[in-house]
Amino acid sequence: MTSPITLYDVRGMDARDPLAHKRSQFDLPVDTIYLDGNSLGCLPTAARLRARDVVDLQWGRDLIKSWNSHGWIDLPVTVGEKIARLTGAAPGQTICCDSISINLFKALSAAIMSQSGRSVVLSQRDNFPTDLYMAQGLQQLLGAQRCTLQLVDADYIESSLDESVAVLMLTHVNFRSGRIHDMARLTQLAHDKGILVIWDLAHSAGVLPVQLDQCRVDFAVGCTYKYLNGGPGAPAFIYVAQRHLSQTSQPLSGWMGHKTPFEFSPMYSPADGIEKYLSGTPSVISMSVLDAALDVFADVSMQQIRDKSLALSELFVALTQQLPALKALHPGSPANSNERGAQLAFHHPHAYELCQALIAQGVIGDFRAPDILRLGFSPLYLRFEDIWHSAHVLAQIIETESWRNPAFSHTGRAGKVT
Ligand SMILES: *Cc1c(COP(=O)(O)O)cnc(C)c1O
Repeated sequence: MTSPITLYDVRGMDARDPLAHKRSQFDLPVDTIYLDGNSLGCLPTAARLRARDVVDLQWGRDLIKSWNSHGWIDLPVTVGEKIARLTGAAPGQTICCDSISINLFKALSAAIMSQSGRSVVLSQRDNFPTDLYMAQGLQQLLGAQRCTLQLVDADYIESSLDESVAVLMLTHVNFRSGRIHDMARLTQLAHDKGILVIWDLAHSAGVLPVQLDQCRVDFAVGCTYKYLNGGPGAPAFIYVAQRHLSQTSQPLSGWMGHKTPFEFSPMYSPADGIEKYLSGTPSVISMSVLDAALDVFADVSMQQIRDKSLALSELFVALTQQLPALKALHPGSPANSNERGAQLAFHHPHAYELCQALIAQGVIGDFRAPDILRLGFSPLYLRFEDIWHSAHVLAQIIETESWRNPAFSHTGRAGKVT
């Protein structure tokens, strides 16, 4: 039996934390402990300042000149390269644009069209729904002869990789459980059968080391409003391995993907590089804010970030074992921290009410139907002491049954389930 963790120990962890200084680069609301950075990251101060600058000066004063003078036209590439650095991608393969859904459609179309004689898109039944919906949309467009979505449970992915499969489409870190797939292994196994692989990095970009080039990944997509702190609705990114850039094409062939968009030719002719994966005009305000937000990552390594996120979640797990009231939570994430991303899922029959009661006390987590309380451990702005307090607040909510207050139940409130 190890001795119980004390607040004194936890403050020591903060004092020794090499990332502790990063917290001061964010504008954080007071009296809030934010365990939802896996859904919408916090506001970096630099992003707030850039938002003002891009609206007041670049748009307001310099107007159309800003496309060149403030580099608006280059944003998809410059921002894409900042993300590339965080995802193990050499330059020239990553571009910032659109949403994951749209980018997945482009990647999946490109992959399917380059696989003759195969139609199966293999994915995981509990993948994030939009990924599956986009594949269903492509199936409807192309017909089942060209594109058929096949869903299996996670344990059957490897045994389902055969010569009928055109594309393996997976999310690196599961959005509910936080379970991580072995990207290197699955990509290799798929390649052995001639299968192309698309990885969705929604819950890994910015929080775990990803090695797209080293794993020989074919395509990847990801969003920037979660761990990359780009702000609500911030544009996503797409990675296409260099070896696929000349051979593949994507069907959303808008003018920004044209080799020479400003010649206004009636005929589409794709750019040579990753720019061919662009479609329309970039969302300049959002992308500028993201550009500034990404600078928070400039002087930290992904391994440091990973180490801290694991230490934070391990502390929370240790406290669930130490505080008797938290025995009521049933772990929904892998016990071995190396097998999970930066979040923890807990099953509880009243997870919704627990989540609402937590929020009422300033601890923001989220609820995922039907019974999951999901807590994210975004390491750039969370302190170990925050984790200590969160666990104690949750324990007290369970112990006193304060979650039974009708204000915290489904029926007690109208509107959106967060
Ligand atoms: C958050 C998330 C998305 C979101 O897709 P958008 O098109 O950017 O809204 C997609 N896939 C996964 C796995 C996610 O977690």
